[in-house]
Amino acid sequence: MPDSPFALSPVVAGLWRLVDWKLDVPARVRWIEQALELGITSFDHADIYGDYRAEALFGEALKAAPALRGRMQLVTKCGIRLRSAQRPYRLNHYDTAAVYVRAQVEQSLRNLHTERLDLVLIHRPDYLMDAAALADTFATLTREGKVAHWGVSNHSASQFALLNQHHPLATNQLELSPLHLDALDDGTLDQAQQLGLRPMIWSPLGGGRLFGGGDAQALRVRTEMEAIAARRGIDLTTLAFAWILRHPSRPHPITGSGRIERLRDAVAALDVKLDAEDWYAIWTASKGHPVP
Ligand code: NAP
Repeated sequence: MPDSPFALSPVVAGLWRLVDWKLDVPARVRWIEQALELGITSFDHADIYGDYRAEALFGEALKAAPALRGRMQLVTKCGIRLRSAQRPYRLNHYDTAAVYVRAQVEQSLRNLHTERLDLVLIHRPDYLMDAAALADTFATLTREGKVAHWGVSNHSASQFALLNQHHPLATNQLELSPLHLDALDDGTLDQAQQLGLRPMIWSPLGGGRLFGGGDAQALRVRTEMEAIAARRGIDLTTLAFAWILRHPSRPHPITGSGRIERLRDAVAALDVKLDAEDWYAIWTASKGHPVP
């Protein structure tokens, strides 16, 4: 990752669904080892995943096998106050005030049994964000050695620019898949290229809708992609990841599966380069009309 200030693996593993995988501690350790063996060294968390429980499950595995920590980059997010039994907020809302960001970063450090987080993202744009004050919070936590790099997720290009003006951001984590094309047109991926900052990409399989979705768009895209995958002799997952990796912003797609074979299919995309016709055939199926 020569043009970025820090290094993530080309494919990142996402832990949003970790609680659902129902792995005991040895199985969690094994899952992490297998991901590392595939070259997936970056792990994407958020304070709120699994109703605030996912980070601690991962941290239990790191406590059981502490040598793993030195082989990985830990990414997490904060800034969403999500209602839950332990957090009886009146409603879900965002909070990027110093006291809350600090509290969540320190909780993530405890959950993950680590002294430092490699990258922390503001999960969603907080309309009440004071960019200068948040930048001060970033600088203080970095000075204390608690966070190496900062970034954002789901921020528009102008929201990114505002915060980036006060503190250098490493990435914008965005949704992109053959079923969700907004980032291609909304300026966020253009900005990533302009600044030489590789975006991270969430829900690359549309959260599973690519496989199970019965709506017209999912059916069109699946039919087109199955034909291309069959012609190229690759898995549908591999094709979806190759479609994302083909974008010139050099994105880091994030897997969401608990199954190692699906992580292997994702990593296989690093050896596939789609030509423009196949890439646009998937775009066309998603839109339901040809390019103008
Ligand atoms: P995804 O890859 O689009 O979807 C994963 C889901 O698809 C899993 O439930 C998986 O089930 C299912 N799936 C995969 N292959 C399948 C197949 N062949 N047949 C049927 N189902 C299949 O990714 P995601 O989980 O939505 O998101 C990935 C990561 O992005 C998350 O873990 C999180 O780290 C990050 N994320 C970030 C944000 C944000 O706002 N920044 C939002 C959402 C997610 P199996 O487990 O059974 O394989």
